[in-house]
Amino acid sequence: MKPYLADPGKTKELLARHDFLIKKGYGQNFLIDPSVPEGIAAAAGLGPDDTVLEIGPGIGTLTQYLAASAGRVIAVEIDRKLEPVLADSLKGFDNVSIVWGDILKQDIPALLAGSGVTPPVKVVANLPYYITSPILMGLLKQARLFSSLTVMVQAEVGERMAAAPGSKTYGYLSVSVQYSARPRLVMSVPPHAFLPQPKVSSAVVRLDALDGPAVRCRNENFMSAVSKAAFLQRRKTLANALAGYHPLGVTREQAEEALTALGLDPRIRGERLGLAEFAALSDILWDMTHANDQEQKEISL
Ligand code: SAM
Repeated sequence: MKPYLADPGKTKELLARHDFLIKKGYGQNFLIDPSVPEGIAAAAGLGPDDTVLEIGPGIGTLTQYLAASAGRVIAVEIDRKLEPVLADSLKGFDNVSIVWGDILKQDIPALLAGSGVTPPVKVVANLPYYITSPILMGLLKQARLFSSLTVMVQAEVGERMAAAPGSKTYGYLSVSVQYSARPRLVMSVPPHAFLPQPKVSSAVVRLDALDGPAVRCRNENFMSAVSKAAFLQRRKTLANALAGYHPLGVTREQAEEALTALGLDPRIRGERLGLAEFAALSDILWDMTHANDQEQKEISL
C-alpha cells in the first residue's frame, strides 16, 4: 500500500467520516504535508529488516510511511477513540500493530518480547509536545533497546538537545541527551505542515544511541543532579549554583575546591562545561560528600 493520508483534504475527510474531535490535551497535531513524513522516514533510514516503535500514531499519517518502508511497525497510542480511525486509515498496511496505552507507562522490553521482536528497534515519532522530555528521557534510560530515535519536537527543544557547551541553548537537556545519544537536527518544520497548526515551529531530530554512556562516572544519578543544579540558576557561578541545590549536599567551598582541582576557574559558569568535565566534577564532589559512606563500608567489610 502507498501512503496517501498526508493531505489536508484527505485528513479532514477521514476525521469527518468518524466524527473524530481533535484533542489538544493529547497534543494532537496531524501531519498534512507529505514532504514531512517522507523526510522523517528517510532520516530514520528504514528498511525491511527494521522494526519501528512509533509513539502516537494519531490517525495513522506517519504510520503509513513507516509501514511502507520498514518490516514492521508497533505503534503505541493513548487515545482509544482513534481505534476506528486507525482501522480505516491502516487498512491494507498489514505490518502494523497498535498497542493502546500511555507510552510513559509501558514496559518496553516486555512489549517488544510480547510482539516477538528482538531489540534494537528504531523509534520514530511525531511526539506529543506536552510530554516530550519525559518520553525521551524514559527511552534514553533504556538506550540499548534502540538503535536510533527520529522524532519531531518543538524547534527550540531540538536545538537544546543538539547544543554544544557555551551556546545559549546548551543546558540540562543537552547534557542528559548527549550522555546516551548523538543528536543531529534533520529538518525544520513550519506550523502549517500540521492540522491544527501548533503555535510553535518544529524540528525533526535524529538521536543515534551510543553503545554505552558518553562518559563514565561514579554515580549517574549524582552526575545528573550536578548538571541539573548547574543550569537551574544559569546566571550564578557554578559553585554558587551547586551550593544552592540542597539535594547535592555540597558547600560553595567544596565546589570551588573541586573546580580548582580540575584546573577550572572557580568562578566558571555551568554552561561552559562539557560532558567529560561534568563527569569529572561530579566524581570529585561525590568523593567529597560520600567519604564517610566509604569509611562505613570499609569498616563493615
Ligand atoms: N503521528 C501522527 C501524525 O504525525 O500526524 C500524530 C502525532 S500527534 C503530534 C501526537 C499523538 O500522540 C496523538 O495521536 C496523541 O493522541 C498521542 N499521545 C499523546 N499522549 C500520549 C501518550 N502518553 N502515550 C501515547 N500516545 C500519546
